[in-house]
Amino acid sequence: MKFIFVTGGVLSGLGKGIIAASVGNILKRHGKKVFIMKFDQYYNVDAGTINPTEHGECFVTDDGAETDLDLGHYERFIDQSLSRQSSVMSGQIYQAILENERRGDYLGKTIQMIPHVTDEVKKRMLEAAKKSKADIVIVEIGGTIGDYEGAHFLEGIRQMRRDFGAENTLYLHVGFFPWMETTQELKTKPMQNSIRDLATYGITPDIVFCRADHPIDRKQLEKISVFCGIDEDAVIPVETLACVYEVPMLLEKFHLGAVVSRKLNLKLEKSDDEWQKLVDKIEADKPKIKIAIVGKYMDMRDTYISVTEALKSACWWNDLDLELGWIDSEKIEKQGAEKLLKDYTGIVVPGGFGNRGIEGKIATAKYARENNIPYLGLCLGMQIATIEFCRHVLGTADCNSEEFNPKTKNPVIHLMNSQTKIKEKGGTMRLGVYKCKLTPGTIAAKAYGQSMISERHRHRFEFNNKYRTRLEKAGLIVAGINPEQNLVEIIEIKNHPFFVASQFHPEFKSRPNRPHPLFREFIKTAKSIDK
Ligand code: GLN
Repeated sequence: MKFIFVTGGVLSGLGKGIIAASVGNILKRHGKKVFIMKFDQYYNVDAGTINPTEHGECFVTDDGAETDLDLGHYERFIDQSLSRQSSVMSGQIYQAILENERRGDYLGKTIQMIPHVTDEVKKRMLEAAKKSKADIVIVEIGGTIGDYEGAHFLEGIRQMRRDFGAENTLYLHVGFFPWMETTQELKTKPMQNSIRDLATYGITPDIVFCRADHPIDRKQLEKISVFCGIDEDAVIPVETLACVYEVPMLLEKFHLGAVVSRKLNLKLEKSDDEWQKLVDKIEADKPKIKIAIVGKYMDMRDTYISVTEALKSACWWNDLDLELGWIDSEKIEKQGAEKLLKDYTGIVVPGGFGNRGIEGKIATAKYARENNIPYLGLCLGMQIATIEFCRHVLGTADCNSEEFNPKTKNPVIHLMNSQTKIKEKGGTMRLGVYKCKLTPGTIAAKAYGQSMISERHRHRFEFNNKYRTRLEKAGLIVAGINPEQNLVEIIEIKNHPFFVASQFHPEFKSRPNRPHPLFREFIKTAKSIDK
C-alpha cells in the first residue's frame, strides 16, 4: 500500500484539488491503479446539508454519497468513478467515535484526539486502500495549514509514515507566491512559512508545488529548495493556466512522474498520448458557441462546476469553444426571458432547491420551447419544464411542484409516499445511480445508443404519474423510465430540435475526453442551428 498526501498552505483556492487530481491522472496514465480521497475539516457528516453558496457544488457518487466538489475533479481527471469512501468529513469521524463510545468499544478508556480520532482517520485511508485495491491512494487534506480544525488529519497522516515507511508515503504541499506590484516580483516568504508551519506538525514535504499568477523564476524555486530542504527537482512551479486540464501536462514537463517514482520506488509504464490530444484540442482555435445557464447561485459559480465542465467538454468534442452566459433567473422574472436570452444558442436550466427564482426558470423553459431553442434541463430543470408544459400547453394554470407550493391543486411534481415519511434531512433524498429504460426513437435513446442506462440522482421530488397520459397526449414525450419504480426520468417535447430534460444529473458522469451523450448532442444540435 502506498499513500500520497496532499496539503495546502498560504491561502485557500489554489487548486490543491486539481493538483491532487493531476497527480492521479499522471499515475493512472503511467499504468498505476489509483484511488483518491478528500478529507474535509467541517463537522458536517456530508456535503448534502451545506448551502452551495458556501462551498460550491455538492457532487454525488454512484453509491449516493453527497460530497465535496473536488471529487468531481478527481473523477474527471482519472476517468474513474469513486465511492462514498472518497469523501470523509470530520463530522463522520466524530459520529463514528461517539457511536463507538456509547457501544462500549473503548470501555475504561479516556477518548482523546490521539489515538482515537487519529486512528479513525487512518482507518478510513486503510479501508479505502484495501477495498479499492489501488497501487496508490492519494489523500487530499482540505483547508490550509494552520487551521485549528485540521490538526487531527495532519497528525493522522504524520503517523502514516511511521506505520508504513518513507518508501510508501509521500507528502505533497501546495503553496503560493504572491506578486508585489511595487517591486514587480514574486515573493517566496509566505510559502516558506507555510512549509515551516507544516514542519511544526512533524511533516516535511517531499514535493512542493509553487502556485503563482506570474512567471516564476528559477531563483525563487532554488530559494524554496535551499531554505526548506527540499530536493531541487521536487520544487515544481505551477503558474496559472488557461485551462485546468493542462495541469497534468505541465507537471509532466517538470518530470513529476519521475520524482514520484523515485521517492516511492514505483515503476511507471510509458503513457499514451490521449490526454495530450485533449489538451491540443482545448488549445486549438475554434468558433465560439453561446450557451446560457439560467440559475440562482450566480455569485457562487462553483455551484454548477460539473455542469460547466460537461458543457466545455461537449463543446470541445464538437470543435467549439464555450462562451457561457450566467443568467440570474430572478432577473428574468423582472425583465422577461427574451431580453436576457435572445443572444444565446442553447439554454441550460440546472439543479436547484427552493422557491427563489422559480418563475424566471419557468419563463425560460417557455421561451426555449416556443422558439425552438435547444434546452437541456437537469433535475430541477426537468421539473421546471414539466410545470411549464402543464401550465401553458395543457392549460393547467395553477399547477406547480409541491416543493414551491405545497397546497397546489395540480402537483405535477410531487413527493412520493416514501419521501413524505422522512423526518431527517441528511442523506435522505433519492441519491446515487438508478436505472433508466430509454424509449426507442427519442433524442435521448439516439444520443446514448443504448436502451438501458444508469445515472446519478439527487432530489426529493418526482414527476407525478397522475398527469402522464394527459401530458403525453399534449406532446410531451416520456423518453426514459426507471423500470423498478415506474418513475419518469427523461422528458422531451415533440417537434422541437432539442428539448431534453432529465430527473437525474448527467453532468456527474461527464468526462473531459468523453462528454456525456446528452450534453454532446445538445451542443451538436445547437451548433447545427447556430447562425
Ligand atoms: N429541488 C428539487 C428536488 O428536490 C430538484 C433538486 C435538484 O435539482 N437536484 O426534487
